[in-house]
Amino acid sequence: MGTAEIIDGKAFAAGLRERIGAAVGGLKAKYGTVPGLAVVLVGEDPASQVYVRNKGKQTLESGMASFEHKLDASTSEETLLKLIADLNADPAVDGILVQLPLPDHIDSQKVLDAIDPEKDVDGFHVVNAGRLATGGDALVPCTPLGCLLLLRDRLGSLSGKHAVVVGRSNIVGKPMAALLLRESCTVTVTHSRTADLPGECRRADILVAAVGRPEMVKGDWIKPGATVIDVGINRVDAPEKGDGKTKLVGDVDFASASDVAGAITPVPGGVGPMTIACLLRNTVEAACRRRGWEMPE
Ligand code: NDP
Repeated sequence: MGTAEIIDGKAFAAGLRERIGAAVGGLKAKYGTVPGLAVVLVGEDPASQVYVRNKGKQTLESGMASFEHKLDASTSEETLLKLIADLNADPAVDGILVQLPLPDHIDSQKVLDAIDPEKDVDGFHVVNAGRLATGGDALVPCTPLGCLLLLRDRLGSLSGKHAVVVGRSNIVGKPMAALLLRESCTVTVTHSRTADLPGECRRADILVAAVGRPEMVKGDWIKPGATVIDVGINRVDAPEKGDGKTKLVGDVDFASASDVAGAITPVPGGVGPMTIACLLRNTVEAACRRRGWEMPE
């Protein structure tokens, strides 16, 4: 199906994790200790539990220290803020990640902004968002960073390319646009009020879809030869697999898009695996900066 090259995020992420593991081994040999990542989960959301489990597992596999904090869904904002303060002060913790979404009674941005920006490995703190926007030394949100690494790997220099980002969330769309601008792309950010979304998409040499709408971006929205990065993860019914079965699809209609694009990420196996690999990368970076270690290659 389709003529587009499939961008294998799973394989790329495995290679990245391997390089991170080697870097962590080098840091341990040189400095006698390893970076540590603390992951905080509040409540029992099943998807969040899977993400947190995978983050802890891959942190340990890379040779780093993992600290998991699982709190009851009824945990107060005050208790959570106290935990964040303790983790900020803990010298063994280089990165702090609070798994989103948080329960409704907790102000998520208040919690994210309580994290020491130097330990904010998710890059959601307003200081890191500001540094990214103004060209400073930011810790960059993991999913857009993963997209950028895949794009650089395929295209080399991105300078002068027209990039269209569909979606303007603080987690994906906005930092993605900022990163592409930093790479000297000409960037268009689109959203639910964009007047002619298919027309905007058709101008893209690089199209990044981060919408949360299953298979919304169609093949005839894509410029022939464009590189398409599908961030979407949507669980939909899959009656073809049997009664009650479901499957994951992206925000791009893969079947029609892969006939037109030059290259495309699949779902699953594209952007998804890059996110945790970039989290590990950010943890190493945060540790090196905070502890004054030389950053491994
Ligand atoms: P949000 O819901 O926060 O943002 C979605 C964005 O899409 C909004 O800016 C919204 O516009 C825009 N949008 C919604 N409907 C339309 C439409 N019909 N036309 C144009 N734009 C539209 O989602 P996230 O950014 O958090 O996530 C996006 C997708 O990426 C989801 O599928 C999510 O599961 C996935 N994801 C994957 C990750 C990974 O590791 N691979 C990590 C994070 C997210 P407006 O602002 O106007 O409302």
